[in-house]
Amino acid sequence: MLEIQNISKQFNSGKSNVTALNSINLKVETSEFLLIKGESGSGKSTLLFILGGMLQPSSGTIVVNDKDLCKLSEKERGSYRANEIGFVFQSYHLLPYLNVFENIMLPNTLTGAQINEADVFRIVEELGIKDRLYHKPSQLSAGEKQRVALARALIINPSLILADEPTGNLDEKNTIDVMNYLKAYQEKGGTVIMVTHGHLADTYATRTIRLDKGQLIT
Ligand code: ADP
Ligand code: MG
Repeated sequence: MLEIQNISKQFNSGKSNVTALNSINLKVETSEFLLIKGESGSGKSTLLFILGGMLQPSSGTIVVNDKDLCKLSEKERGSYRANEIGFVFQSYHLLPYLNVFENIMLPNTLTGAQINEADVFRIVEELGIKDRLYHKPSQLSAGEKQRVALARALIINPSLILADEPTGNLDEKNTIDVMNYLKAYQEKGGTVIMVTHGHLADTYATRTIRLDKGQLIT
């Protein structure tokens, strides 16, 4: 479903020049559950942002669902992000002034993605947050907040979920719940690429790769 060839990324800020990714090659098949591990600063988030069309590589090619991301126009890239990618972050990225229902509807509000209200009700039921629908994020526990973020990622029926340390702020029970939801999505044919430090995710993955100072090590 995706292939990246020779991706490098340099960040130039004034005098300093950081190589975040150095000649990465990676192929991911549909319905894989790929874990990315590596020390802080090794380039994991940079790789996810590039895969999500949120950051342009300095060089190399990246093809997702037969689309060459570097050749898309801004508009096409926006549509790719909105319709094909679900993103889940460690810190949830919920909007504090919107309630759970409105946060899950956000892709519709922001990008016009077609979201059925019935699907929102189904998904909050599946994720066990049905009785939190009209609460604000500040009224939710960490585990509930991450379920809302997951619901918002899943609601567009993405072909790829990119998850950046999604269990980093969760206790063991909530970590296992989140892993089970991601696994269920993958078993229905979705593809998951997840950055993690913990070991709890290991048994859910179909493959694990490791980044070290911007390079893939096997
Ligand atoms: P990880 O997610 O593995 O902790 P990152 O991908 O966030 O690593 O960062 C990789 C390297 O790139 C780090 O050295 C980081 O400081 C640098 N970096 C990341 N984003 C930027 C940016 N926007 N500007 C400058 N340097 C950055
Ligand atoms: Mg990171």
